[in-house]
Amino acid sequence: MKDTGQWPSEYPRLRELLAEIEDLSIALAILDWDEQTQMPSSGAQARADQKATLEKTIHAKTTDPQIARLLESLMPFEESLPPDADERGLLRMARRQYYLATCLPEKLVTDFSRARSRAFRDWLSAREKKDFGAYLDSFQVILDYSIKVGEALRQGQGQPLEGLLDYSEPGMTLEVMERIFGELKESLTPLVKTISDRLDTIDDRILYEEYDLKRQWDIGLQGVDAIGFRLDEGRADQSVHPFSTYFSPRDVRITTRMDPHDFGMSFFAFLHEAGHGHYMQGIPEAYRRSPLAEGASAGMHESQSRTWENLVGRSRGFWRHFYPKVRQTFPEHLADFPEEDWYRAVNRVQPSLIRVEADEVTYNLHIMIRYELEKSLHAGALAPRDLAAAWNAKFKEYLGIEPQNDLEGVLQDIHWTGMVGAAFQSYTLGNVMAVQLYDAAVRQNPQLEEAFERGDFSGLLAWTRENVHAHGTKFFPQELIQRATGQELTTAPFLAYIHRKFGALYDL
Ligand code: ZN
Repeated sequence: MKDTGQWPSEYPRLRELLAEIEDLSIALAILDWDEQTQMPSSGAQARADQKATLEKTIHAKTTDPQIARLLESLMPFEESLPPDADERGLLRMARRQYYLATCLPEKLVTDFSRARSRAFRDWLSAREKKDFGAYLDSFQVILDYSIKVGEALRQGQGQPLEGLLDYSEPGMTLEVMERIFGELKESLTPLVKTISDRLDTIDDRILYEEYDLKRQWDIGLQGVDAIGFRLDEGRADQSVHPFSTYFSPRDVRITTRMDPHDFGMSFFAFLHEAGHGHYMQGIPEAYRRSPLAEGASAGMHESQSRTWENLVGRSRGFWRHFYPKVRQTFPEHLADFPEEDWYRAVNRVQPSLIRVEADEVTYNLHIMIRYELEKSLHAGALAPRDLAAAWNAKFKEYLGIEPQNDLEGVLQDIHWTGMVGAAFQSYTLGNVMAVQLYDAAVRQNPQLEEAFERGDFSGLLAWTRENVHAHGTKFFPQELIQRATGQELTTAPFLAYIHRKFGALYDL
């Protein structure tokens, strides 16, 4: 986006309108960050009013018919550009943003929003009773709206679920999702069964001793700093649910949550959010105030967080470098505890009921269960009143364990108070894409992993900067994967990594 001489006059005009939308969206993100990290709960009512006003303003600006007219008249310009031109990517994203904001009837949007608020309250009280039955009526309403939204997004072409898939993962189809989950299921379910018979191979009790919170905070920040997240161009705070948010490439915020009896909770949340943060710090300054200044999709974003949380943060190389620092910080626990046992502890596999606590091997089965249930719900093959029982049966089948109540089961995720079918698959796509990208990085820079042991993670960061971060939303996720790795999206690297790493850990 340099040679301004070639632009038709409509282009800068459109960019101006889009820049205002971005500015307002970031103002909304700041209100949201403040609400989750700083605001006293007494500020909640006023904050809700402020956010609603901003949201309304953003919606009005996003659906301004002027944008449609400008996009229309810029069509010949767009088609004259090479496929990888920034301007072309920007126009495609602007078109998508306009389409997504206008294709849903206003009544559907407001009715669904009201239904979601009610569903959230019902979900909270059903959780208290640990009984999905108390959430059933609301869930049926949410499912009906999700299908209506999917239909509206698809405009009568294809299945509603496909509309929701494409909504969070531009360009994603049911066919690709089926292939991915099919391959994961075939390879992971027998592995989980094998490991389940030898869970005692690894002892991770060391992680659950009492670790002083102040020192946990300090070592977490050191970890974030070690992997190259720029704390001087960002901030770290605590929140109930860890998250990260972007105000500009030079101002990226991350959060973690802490538990004195769980070392891994805050440390790995720190690395995870710093991975998201890396993505945002790598967005080119030239993309600021445009629809290009984001991650390519929820899944691609997750690929970056998983890279630093798991592929780096649970690697031998990382701990060779970093364990001495943790040991020095907590000598009362770790003075005599061997590095190898620590590496094994942070990689322990344990089939569990709760998704957010799942390890690298079982995590995708948690997602697959949800995806299969959502698909059946959308197809009408599963009725909401049978959902809790179906959930429990699938946990028994794939993970060999069963929830004792619905709080440990079907009521655990907030996602089903929102859009049924739009969210979970991005987590698995993130895990799969992370390893495919990482493998390509190592193939092109064979020395990259060895450098981890010396605390040098710059090779990997530079590769992801160039191949992922620098493109913002210019390419759809599968295009980005193809360009960066030379291959279409595939589970092969992920599955090879899992079998290699955990085969060695569990002597398989
Ligand atoms: Zn994440």
